[in-house]
Amino acid sequence: TWDAVPLAPPDSIFKLTAAYKADPHPHKVNLGVGAYRDDDSKPWVLPVVRKATQLLLNDPALDHEYLPITGLPEFVSGAAKLILGADSPALAEGRVASVQTISGTGANHIGALFLSRYYGFPGDKAVYLSDPTWANHFAIFNNVGIAPRTYPYYDPATIGLDFAGLLGALGAAPPRSVFLLHACAHNPTGVDPTRAQWAALADAMLAHGHYAFFDAAYQGFASGDLTADAQAVRYFVQRGVPLLICQSFAKNAGLYGERVGALHIVSPTQEASARVRSQLSVLQRSEISNPPSYGARVVALILNDDALFAEWRADVHTMARRIIEMRTELHHLLTAELHTPGNWDHIINQIGMFSFTGISPAQSQALTERAHIYLTVNGRISMAGLNSKNIRYFAEELDKVVRE
Ligand code: PMP
Repeated sequence: TWDAVPLAPPDSIFKLTAAYKADPHPHKVNLGVGAYRDDDSKPWVLPVVRKATQLLLNDPALDHEYLPITGLPEFVSGAAKLILGADSPALAEGRVASVQTISGTGANHIGALFLSRYYGFPGDKAVYLSDPTWANHFAIFNNVGIAPRTYPYYDPATIGLDFAGLLGALGAAPPRSVFLLHACAHNPTGVDPTRAQWAALADAMLAHGHYAFFDAAYQGFASGDLTADAQAVRYFVQRGVPLLICQSFAKNAGLYGERVGALHIVSPTQEASARVRSQLSVLQRSEISNPPSYGARVVALILNDDALFAEWRADVHTMARRIIEMRTELHHLLTAELHTPGNWDHIINQIGMFSFTGISPAQSQALTERAHIYLTVNGRISMAGLNSKNIRYFAEELDKVVRE
């Protein structure tokens, strides 16, 4: 029956993790997967999440009934306030249609599906993705019949943003095109636009009538501050750029496997928003019927209680600060101690969980084969995989491959 089914290659990131796990070397380092690790290389259950979980378990009224199709109301409304701001005029005016999703991946999927059904694409259905981007974006849009195209983003020459290329692409695309933008802490490059650049991007988006498809998977991880990291999204809403937001709580709440997320579509009027919400509900029904309740309940407790929310802010700050410390330390080791050839300022200039080191695929492979350091061949490292115990080893091995 399945003779015509070709064997698919394994997912490269999860393959990397499997290779790391199978490696018996005592000094092995995993810089592949984008999950936060503490200074002992261990997954970190946020203290506030432990607390909220206990509250849930002790609640005698807790049952396992279905959630509404669009999700747990107090989670969805809290999530919308988190990204848009509690004082958001768009929320007050009833112009935001939100649904709970299967983490950020599910938000991207339902957002893409909604656009494929209802967005007035100029010509072919297409979405413009940053070059490079999270690899799954390609598959997610292909799955719903939207062709992925890329726009210039990362400039290997500067290990920074190709801002002129990005603006050029906004100008060259047909009016009303859809552009996917990473809200903060761009994956995989760690390169974000500055505030002034975001303002120029909003101008260009408005001038060409483009639609912004925001992917917000790392709110809090860029600056350590949840509000500061929502700045680009809030600014675009304020400017009136038509947009939607895909939101994930995987990283900032450490709830990777619980699949907690939301999709928020901002409309020009309350009446349009009601129609959008009704169709999101129809799509959601055929896809998953009802979203999962556990993780949403945990996050809803945190979002809707001042004391728990304050604790969460501190926990997010703890994660972001450790990552920033690792950037500073790695930069110091390479420049001040090892005098590694080349400029390493991008290590401290880049933002969030990831850093694009700028090393070649051959050098990445050499690190894995000879030093048991696992990273993707594009030279991306997860800063969260570094800690006070392995950072010197990593810096020394990086220094060696760069000098060869
Ligand atoms: N978008 C981006 C840019 C990501 O990096 C990720 C996680 N790797 C996601 C979305 C989705 O993650 P999740 O489904 O676990 O929330």
